[in-house]
Amino acid sequence: MDVYVQLAYLASVACFVVGIKKLGSPKTARFGNLLASLAMLVAMIAALLHHDVVDKNWIYGGIAVGAVIGIIAAVRVQMTGMPELVALLNGSGGFASALVAMSEFHQTPIADQDHVMLVSMGISILIGGVTLTGSVVAYGKLAGKISSAPITYPFQNFANAALFMAILAVFYPICTTEGPTWAMYAMFVLSFVLGVLLVIPIGGADMPVVISLLNSYSGLAACATGFVLGNQLLITAGSLVGAAGMILTALMCKAMNRSLGNVIFGAFGAADSTGTSGASGEKRSVRNYGIEDATMILDNASTVVIVPGYGLAVARAQHVAYELCQILEKNGTTVRFAIHPVAGRMPGHMNVLLAEADVPYEQLIDMEEINPDFETTDVALILGANDVINPAARDDKTSPIYGMPILEVDKAETVMICKRSLGAGFAGIDNELFYMDKTMMIFGDAKKSLTDIVAGLREGDA
Ligand code: NDP
Repeated sequence: MDVYVQLAYLASVACFVVGIKKLGSPKTARFGNLLASLAMLVAMIAALLHHDVVDKNWIYGGIAVGAVIGIIAAVRVQMTGMPELVALLNGSGGFASALVAMSEFHQTPIADQDHVMLVSMGISILIGGVTLTGSVVAYGKLAGKISSAPITYPFQNFANAALFMAILAVFYPICTTEGPTWAMYAMFVLSFVLGVLLVIPIGGADMPVVISLLNSYSGLAACATGFVLGNQLLITAGSLVGAAGMILTALMCKAMNRSLGNVIFGAFGAADSTGTSGASGEKRSVRNYGIEDATMILDNASTVVIVPGYGLAVARAQHVAYELCQILEKNGTTVRFAIHPVAGRMPGHMNVLLAEADVPYEQLIDMEEINPDFETTDVALILGANDVINPAARDDKTSPIYGMPILEVDKAETVMICKRSLGAGFAGIDNELFYMDKTMMIFGDAKKSLTDIVAGLREGDA
């Protein structure tokens, strides 16, 4: 039986690796997700066959409760609420690892607890606790349950340093003796405090990066618990999650041209994001157009690039955006969607949103590939995007987003921007593009504007 269990573990690990690889492309992502889920099922069945450690009724009960909560959450969550859900899932994963480590500490006779095991328990409890409370604070900030502004207080650095010393002081007896019970519990409490203190000074807008980092932590906690249990599958799966989360965090930082240190300690997004009408506050004019003008220009365009952003997700306008695309294509217009890596509020946000509306993957073009084509594009149609098209990131060395790669829509012949106001985006800064001569501002909710444009085009066709 043991050989079969080990073989099942090996098969699961292989499927996890292939599954993650397949997540790299929208075409294969669904299959990758399914494969990784199946691998998890196989791993769970194998683990249940392996050890008769607990009454299986508890396990069946846990699976039933978890499945019900998971199904309800997955069905009810809106696309814009996905980062919150992921935050809670990460927190639960980290906490589960810490609890398993703690229970193992109580169950294993002291004589059988070697140093590797004790250190692994300490690490699992530390990282698992941080992941839980850090994720709960991240969830609270994103869901608006607590202030999303960076929360700072006097002697903050001193408090963090003191906490760090306290953690080291507790870790020492765990490593050098048989791990006294008080030290394990103290580690639990300190890790909870650390999780809160690490995340409260970070602005709500940076939470997706923090969540990706906490996701990586939950993997590391699972990996440490794998050492506690001597379970190779958990070690491998935990390392995969830890490494994948770390890589994703690094990619997100790179796409925003910011360092991880700046995200964690920079209090970015604290700026007023209610919008301005110019850095110096002076009133500037924009070209405000109506739906008829937009309809006419789109009707006559031969190439259109649609640029989705966070506002498209807020407006839930992905279906009507694709409807517009199909009508234009029927007219002989070439239409493509330009995808910026950090458009929206989570990695792959726009890909998922447009996949929901059945936009073919071939029509989603990455930033590097589409940028050279803007010069020969008739209309760049911006739907609720702002920072990812802001030319200041390319041209203005003093801009907070200078260096962040952008979609170079300002090179298109006409730039059509659908948004509700001159309000700023995530970075809280003005956008020079709104004031350019070639720019047409179509003010209003993106879904409403697109629905009206689609109706106008249909009328014209009839
Ligand atoms: P932005 O946040 O820059 O801008 C979104 C715009 O959408 C706003 O200016 C808003 O303007 C508009 N909007 C909101 N609601 C609607 C609506 N109903 N209809 C029409 N427009 C609407 O979005 P981008 O996608 O351009 O940029 C994403 C930003 O998020 C980047 O700065 C990125 O660094 C950051 N970020 C992204 C992460 C990711 O993983 N994707 C992670 C962390 C941060 P108005 O109010 O006037 O309508």
